[in-house]
Amino acid sequence: MSADKVVRVLSDADISRIADTLELKHTGKNSDFLIFETLGGGFTRQRDVAIPLAEAGEILDALNRGAERLKEYEGWVDPEKGFAEFEIRMLRLGAIRHSTVDRFTFESHPCAHGHSYSPPHEVVANNYYHVWRVTSPDGSICIELSPNSPLSVPLISLDLEGRGSRIESTLKVFLGGATGGGDLSNRAIGLANSFLFELNARNGTLYALKPRLQAHVRPRRAQSISHAVRFPKARVPKHVAALFAMASDARGGHTSSFLAYYQILEHYLPAAHKRDNVRKVRRILRSLDFDEEKDSSILKVLNSVDRAHGASEGEQLRTLVEECIPEDRLREFFELDHGTHFGKRGPISGVVAIHLNSGESLGSQVAKRVYALRNRIVHAKDDVRYAEASVLLPGGHEDVRLRPDVELLRVLAIEAIVDNQ
Ligand SMILES: [Zn+2]
Repeated sequence: MSADKVVRVLSDADISRIADTLELKHTGKNSDFLIFETLGGGFTRQRDVAIPLAEAGEILDALNRGAERLKEYEGWVDPEKGFAEFEIRMLRLGAIRHSTVDRFTFESHPCAHGHSYSPPHEVVANNYYHVWRVTSPDGSICIELSPNSPLSVPLISLDLEGRGSRIESTLKVFLGGATGGGDLSNRAIGLANSFLFELNARNGTLYALKPRLQAHVRPRRAQSISHAVRFPKARVPKHVAALFAMASDARGGHTSSFLAYYQILEHYLPAAHKRDNVRKVRRILRSLDFDEEKDSSILKVLNSVDRAHGASEGEQLRTLVEECIPEDRLREFFELDHGTHFGKRGPISGVVAIHLNSGESLGSQVAKRVYALRNRIVHAKDDVRYAEASVLLPGGHEDVRLRPDVELLRVLAIEAIVDNQ
């Protein structure tokens, strides 16, 4: 935030500390920049990025005084300064006319922060940036939308001459003086969400915080791609086709893809359930000791039918997975490199881990995991088994890591469609 940019010499240890914090790999430097490679996690391709040397020094200073990155969002807290900064993105419908923004006024009160920018806008590096700042009535807290500080990196892509710069608007929360780290991030996240909610609901301006993407293994596509385009054989009911197309459209986020694939499975639940019941009753009728004159024999049929009526959605899902999806196909999927995603310490909480060599069938484990996830997304409070698992929010930090589960659902949906011809 200081205007005087003193370039100082950074040791290798300093540079690796910055690289570790930002989850980057240091690859080189030139006279003005440190060069890094992203770790190619999540959805971003591996690419070269740069941080100006002067700003790298400020990041190091911040780390030394105890600043840290937020866990759930792209952003930082700097407890010694009582300061938090969030990266934001403008949502699709958020483009509002300049003439509207020009009419905005901002609640202001005297404060003791010493801000670098003044509302309503500033020109930085020949570009025009909004500076919106509101202050609490007692002057203790300011919330500000303005060009980023060195902490909120926006990593720069260098041009062919090895130059570049990039400034983005970020959301900043200034509290009064030093604040404990955990308390600061909770208060700052609360204030940022309140501010963005009111900007949306009252001012028609749509910004959102960015969930933090962490470097993690990019799963290979679970379905190999065929190069032979054929005259189609698969029959696909109209709304299953619509759901499948919707699920493949990543714009809705992973939870929306997950639910669309899940709805395809739901479509096939009753048929699989019925087939399973018929098979069970037939097995009883064909058993050697079945005797239609004996009440005990008839009761066996009745019990089987009763159990079928009482089957929960979770049990029906298990029937579908075990009946329609070959165990080999599931094994093949889980043998791909998903990193630790499906393990005990995977990033998604409240779901069972998948063990290839446990006594339980893969189909049963998969059904439990998928059903628990579905419940976390739609937040079925009536299912006591999952009552303690929190809701999985679209756009949240688990949503962005849900992709391997979405790939799994895609496999299940394809196999269910193919099996129900
Ligand atoms: Zn202030």
